[in-house]
Amino acid sequence: MKTITGIPASPGIAIGTAFLYAESGIPEIPRYSIAGEQSGAEMERLRDAMEQAKKDLRGVLDRAEKEMSGEHAAIFEAHLMMIEDPYFTGRLEERILKETQNAEWAVRETVRELAGKMMVSPDPLFRERVTDITDVSRRILSHLLAIHRVSLADLKEDCIIAAHDLLPSDILVMNRERVKAIVTDMGSGTSHTAILARAFNIPAVLGLSSAASEIVTGDILAVDGNSGEVIVNPPKAVLSKYQKETAKYRKKTDEFLAMRDLPAETLDGRMVTLKANIEIPEEAEKAASYGAQGIGLYRSEFLFLTPGRAASEEVQFRAYSRVLAAMGDLPVTIRTVDIGGDKVLSDFQPDGEKNPLLGWRAIRFSLALPDLFKTQLRAILRAGAAGNARIMFPLISGLEELERALAMLEEAKDECRLKGHAFAENIETGVMIEVPSAAVIAEVLAEKSGFFSIGTNDLVQYSLAVDRGNERVGYLAQPVHPAVLRLIKMTVDAAHNRGITAAMCGEMAGDPALTAALLGLGLDELSMASPSIPAVKRVVREVKAEECRVLAGELLAGRSASENAALLRGWMEKRRLL
Ligand code: PEP
Ligand code: MG
Repeated sequence: MKTITGIPASPGIAIGTAFLYAESGIPEIPRYSIAGEQSGAEMERLRDAMEQAKKDLRGVLDRAEKEMSGEHAAIFEAHLMMIEDPYFTGRLEERILKETQNAEWAVRETVRELAGKMMVSPDPLFRERVTDITDVSRRILSHLLAIHRVSLADLKEDCIIAAHDLLPSDILVMNRERVKAIVTDMGSGTSHTAILARAFNIPAVLGLSSAASEIVTGDILAVDGNSGEVIVNPPKAVLSKYQKETAKYRKKTDEFLAMRDLPAETLDGRMVTLKANIEIPEEAEKAASYGAQGIGLYRSEFLFLTPGRAASEEVQFRAYSRVLAAMGDLPVTIRTVDIGGDKVLSDFQPDGEKNPLLGWRAIRFSLALPDLFKTQLRAILRAGAAGNARIMFPLISGLEELERALAMLEEAKDECRLKGHAFAENIETGVMIEVPSAAVIAEVLAEKSGFFSIGTNDLVQYSLAVDRGNERVGYLAQPVHPAVLRLIKMTVDAAHNRGITAAMCGEMAGDPALTAALLGLGLDELSMASPSIPAVKRVVREVKAEECRVLAGELLAGRSASENAALLRGWMEKRRLL
């Protein structure tokens, strides 16, 4: 038996057989120069890898035609066409024969070059193909590097996925019915892998550092997503303890779920709105079953991140309409794309940024690509004609960005008018507060915002200078740090001075251990992965708003994150809420 401890990233307990997913990403790509006389052999190596990739694709295509929709089959057909595309193969040949690049590097560079061109193409069809070309290149690279590719979509048996890292798209395509838990070396509680695991109610422990090296396929694992403990090959006694824990946890979650239809109201009568965060439209359909009072954050970029999915105006319009229809009259806040940072459009970002988290992401990306941005805005506006849609802009750091985004929204409305589309003329717009500068000037931003939603995942990352995906510094990502709490308070006060809603949609909002503090800070609305709603509601219903206000005052005056954490724990224990 071996015990490894990581970051508890998605609650729940699971026992199962490990499946070591070793090829979630292509490792470091080797780069070397090919001496002239070897270039023929290098070309041969590339051709072999491409033939094998084509063979794989024909197999997948065969299956897709039998088992999936025409839409899925078309994706793989397009992948086959890309491998055979004469421009693509011509560029590869040039790089190896003329520029003496090794085959792996030639593939990497050619795809970067093509992806860069496609991303800025005025033709939306080209832009939509960037993820496909990346997928194709991975397939070729996996043969060149002799990595065995297993698709997580093909899982046939129940298992616990162990991996060095998992991409958000890995979780999107995996056969989630079969995945009982996830353990990875990389990631933190607010990485997008964690967010998706919570969304799909899959227990997860991330940031283990050694999962991929200490676990092999077939090991029996006991995974505790509440404590962060992973036990490899536990003896019988430990296994039965875990089985009991699992049953206890299930009973508790069922009890909380029974409160689904009761109001989120404190003992002294303060109401708070609890909403769901979603990444894909399917999630909206189950949000109501957890008691969500709307969608507080639809991370629309996942429409762009799913391999092979086209995010044209029509595709987006259909996705947004589906979410709006699922929610009826309840409000749905659609966040414009937050691509970049840890949500890369491809492994081959066109500009290869040194500091992607401080770089070309979210609203900066949208403002730089007006076509792409306005396509999205039109799709939301049109879908909003038949539903209660709101638009939210991510990563606003100053007034100019907000003004430019609002001006583009007006242009998008004009375009809808010109085309005679029905659209939501008076759609409400809000700002995500996730950069410290935005919290500090919240008073100014409030003048042009219908609401604020605090994105604490990024606010913590940027205010404490801690990369949210880096497990080495994960211990520093402390949401109860007094600096973070003061930024939240400034934002809430600025919103209330202006009479607008102060919401929160970062992962803090879904942590029941923090609910009392957030109520005390004055938040009106909390939005979270829908499976977290019942546990948060239970805390809301068992505390007094006035006591929470006093608690928040003490936390704001706190001197350190650890003192605040201890204070909060004591407060919760006293009320038997932990
Ligand atoms: C956040 O930053 O808190 C947030 C909700 O946005 P995302 O996690 O998608 O960056
Ligand atoms: Mg964010």
